[in-house]
This record gives sequence, C-alpha cells and structure tokens, in this order.
Amino acid sequence: MTQSPELSFEFFPPRTPKGAETLAAVHTELAKFEPNFFSVTYGAGGSTQAGTYDAIKEMRGRGSNAAPHITCVGASRDYIKETIQSYIDLGVDRLVVLRGDLPGGMVDRGKFKYASDLVTFIRDEFGNDIHLEVAAYPDFHPESKSPQSELENFKRKIDAGANSAITQYFYNADSYFAFLDEATRMGIEAPIVPGIMPITNYATLVRFSDVCGAELPQWIKARLRQYQDDEASLKAFGFDVVANLCLDLLENGVHGLHFYSLNKVEPVKQICQAVGYEQG
Ligand code: FAD
Repeated sequence: MTQSPELSFEFFPPRTPKGAETLAAVHTELAKFEPNFFSVTYGAGGSTQAGTYDAIKEMRGRGSNAAPHITCVGASRDYIKETIQSYIDLGVDRLVVLRGDLPGGMVDRGKFKYASDLVTFIRDEFGNDIHLEVAAYPDFHPESKSPQSELENFKRKIDAGANSAITQYFYNADSYFAFLDEATRMGIEAPIVPGIMPITNYATLVRFSDVCGAELPQWIKARLRQYQDDEASLKAFGFDVVANLCLDLLENGVHGLHFYSLNKVEPVKQICQAVGYEQG
C-alpha cells in the first residue's frame, strides 16, 4: 500500500440478548484492526433507537470510537436535537447523517425533506466540532432523476457542512471512480470512502441490491446463482470478487474502506487481511 488508508466497520443494532452477545464478540475481534471508527445503523422512523444508543454506549465503554447513524425522515426537530445531545453526552464526536426511507404505514415525512436539511440543522444547533458523514451513491440512488442531479444533491450535503461521505456498496470500481471524478470537477474535496459489502449469500444480496439501487453486475450475479446451493464455492468466489475490488480501490489511492459487516467477523476479517490491514 502506498499510504495508510482509513478503516471503519458498520454494525446493525442487535434485537435480542443473543444478538448483543454476538455483536460484542464481533466488535472485540474487529477492534484488533484498530479501525478509525465503528458505526451503528438506525432504523428510519425510530424502530431501533434504543438498540443503536445501547450499542454505541457499549462500544464507547470499551474504548472504541463509535458513531451512530441518524435519520431524519418522519422525525421532529426536538426529537433529533434530544437524540444527538444524548450521543454528545456519551462523548460521540462523529455522526452518519441520513434521510432514511419512511417505513411502511408511516405517512408524515416530518420537517426534514433531505439529508442536507439535517446536516444544516446539526451545524446550526451543535456547531462545527462534530464530524458529519453523509451517504453517496456511485450507482445512483433509486430516486435519482439524473446523474447530474444526483451529484448536485450530493454536493448540497457537503456544502451544508458534511465532512466526508461513505458510499452505498458497489462492485464496479469504474462507477466509483467516475463518481469521484465528477465530484472533484464540481469542487468537492471531502473524502468519499467506498462502502464495501462482502458477498456471502445470493438471495440476500439480490434483494438488498434491488432495494438500494446498487448494481450487481451480470457476471457476478450469474456465478452467485450457480453457487447458491454450494456455500463454500459461493463464499470463495465472493471473497475473490470483493478482495480484488478492495485491492483495486486501495491501489488507486482511496482515502479508506468502510465495511458493511452485517455483524459477522469472518468475511470482513478475511478481506481486510488479504488487502493488507493488520490486526494489532
Ligand atoms: P438524501 O441525500 O436526502 O437523498 C435522497 C434522494 O433525494 C436522492 O435521490 C437525492 O438525489 C434526492 N435529493 C436530495 N436532495 C434533493 C433536493 N434538494 N431536491 C431534490 N432531490 C433531492 N438508512 C437507514 O434507515 N438507516 C441507516 O442507518 C442507514 N445507513 C446508511 C449508511 C450509508 C453509508 C448509506 C449509503 C445508506 C444508508 N441508509 C440508511 C440508507 C438511506 O437512508 C437511503 O438510501 C435513503 O433512501 C436516502 O438517504 P440519503 O441520506 O442518501 O438521502
């Protein structure tokens, strides 16, 4: 590696005591890589509020830099303010700021229309000390009107005060580099860190990708379909694809990698080791 790229791991909040135990073990193992931070997702509409808070508190208690995700769709200003204050009281100095998607059954979108509105609100209410991450979409967001408007909307979040971005996962490095080039041409200097999704399951990945708009290239999809009843071959193929993607990104000087761990150690650990991150 030509530089020391950053590293971060994303978790989802556990829903059961057993899930909490698993997460604690995964955190312990991945903490050995000494990542820059861990992040914990948040169910838009408030469904995982307590779980996110508890996981962040637990990780901070174990000495890790842990950053909560926070979504604004359907949320009031007071609620957002109280939630962020509760994190600041824990010592949190980084947030992953998102719009989120309104859960089925909820109709009131609330006062914040876009993530950029939430970034503006946080800067107004809490100043500039807190590091704000936002989302970026190299394969474009499902609601995107055009590549140009997507980039302009992304720039709005940076102009509103976001410090850096994490991308939706992608498997085609060219789409990431094209997004980066366009962003640079628009004067965006904030780091745009690739979000990396290990491949361990065919059906789940196809479903996720359909919902979030991430492109699953045909050559990958066809082989995963072929291996869907042969777990060992599927995992070996998935490892090769994602490790090669990470190597390509690192060789081209990315700022860092952010792993969607899905609260599992092995897939992420194997890829990190293969591309040169070391456990202390
Ligand atoms: P925005 O940046 O607001 O964009 C949403 C859409 O609106 C885009 O199509 C954009 O182009 C468009 N848009 C933005 N501004 C304008 C404007 N001014 N005028 C017109 N159109 C505009 N979801 C969760 O519920 N919980 C999580 O913890 C979570 N974590 C995530 C982490 C990462 C790294 C990523 C990439 C996604 C995550 N998501 C999470 C999913 C995210 O909430 C959804 O993708 C959501 O649909 C969009 O959120 P956003 O913050 O990107 O929205």
